[in-house]
Amino acid sequence: MSSDDEAVRVVPLGRTFTLDVPLGPAGDLALTGFASATGRGKVHGDQSCGALRSATAVRRVESRFRDTLGRLCTNCSWPLPAGSPILKLGASVVDIDSLKVWIGREPDSLEDQALDEDAAMALAAGEYPPDPVGSSAEGIEEDGSKDEFDHEAWDRYERARAIRHQHHVHWRRLQSYMLRSNEAVAAHPFLRSWAEPLQAELAKVIDAERRSLTAMLQPAALLDAAGVPLVARPTFMPGPQFATLGGDAPKVFAKAWSEWSHQAQWSWHRLEDNSFAVSSVVRDAIGRRRKGRDEAVSGFEGLVEQWIASARREASRYDDEPRQLLAVGIPGVARDQIDGRDRDPLTRWEGAVIATYQIAVNWPNGTIALLAPRVVADHLIAGATRDLPVERLGTGADALPAEALLSGWTPEKRHDS
Ligand SMILES: [Zn+2]
Repeated sequence: MSSDDEAVRVVPLGRTFTLDVPLGPAGDLALTGFASATGRGKVHGDQSCGALRSATAVRRVESRFRDTLGRLCTNCSWPLPAGSPILKLGASVVDIDSLKVWIGREPDSLEDQALDEDAAMALAAGEYPPDPVGSSAEGIEEDGSKDEFDHEAWDRYERARAIRHQHHVHWRRLQSYMLRSNEAVAAHPFLRSWAEPLQAELAKVIDAERRSLTAMLQPAALLDAAGVPLVARPTFMPGPQFATLGGDAPKVFAKAWSEWSHQAQWSWHRLEDNSFAVSSVVRDAIGRRRKGRDEAVSGFEGLVEQWIASARREASRYDDEPRQLLAVGIPGVARDQIDGRDRDPLTRWEGAVIATYQIAVNWPNGTIALLAPRVVADHLIAGATRDLPVERLGTGADALPAEALLSGWTPEKRHDS
């Protein structure tokens, strides 16, 4: 190690740089390694590599990086200065090479396909079993008989929601790998010819995953959700049903509306399946009081029904409007620096809308064209952030061909804020 204390990274070059990887200008760099005295055989980064042990004598060899390709030992690692261009190139190569993990896989087993189909069938009716006994865990205590509770239906819906969640997470993760490989190509353009066939295969896998996801999503629910932000903030009307809340009633009402409207407009649930947002606010406010509890809970249930009706009415105003062609710059999933967990900048509603209304993709630009109902388009644009740039490209029949319009659109450069 050099005495000037330069930081050194130890990297497994032989595993990263396989024969098919283009090296560009980095191929001309000198690489120091070790080989057996004959000079033939593998080149090692580590003098004490186990694969060298049988050699009677070991000698230091220096050659152009390009000339050692195909001879690099895959068991040991090379110490390289932290500023070495080979390190930077290696990181890009890894980002492209990792696409191979996701392509050319065995198709889903028949069992998995059957589970997917069942999930799609179940979720078409909502998030929970439509049968009221099966849908209310409270039913168990109220009528005293556990037999009435349909565990099987409940489990089926739980499994269906989990399957949809997995497809969603996987679809977003695959997109993120694609975007990362784009960055790698941008950093080292000579990698393009190597990356492109892998990216083309990955694009097919991403689309198959998208189709699996959309089979479990309801466009009608996405449309209704887009009506929620158009509903005027409701005002509280006092009534005997809210008596147990006393003077807090208006505050509880305001909180219930705010939680519900936020949840309802950014989720892929049917509007009816967001009631938990309200019931938890109301139950928290009532605490352990019994008197007037049922009245307050059902009073709020009545309010939610009104909110749902209003949202549907607002959404349906746009029924006759032509569909809108939108371009979105698709963001990847970000890895949280602190806890290392994935953070998706897209809400579920946004993800679901992009999956459902996608009509063209331009992966090199990281852009997707959507042909979406007007109310959906407006909501997506209203929520557009630096993470998700959205622009209206056209309307109805004028909107096509989407591919040509999309390829001419570049999302505004995104900066970390
Ligand atoms: Zn070795």
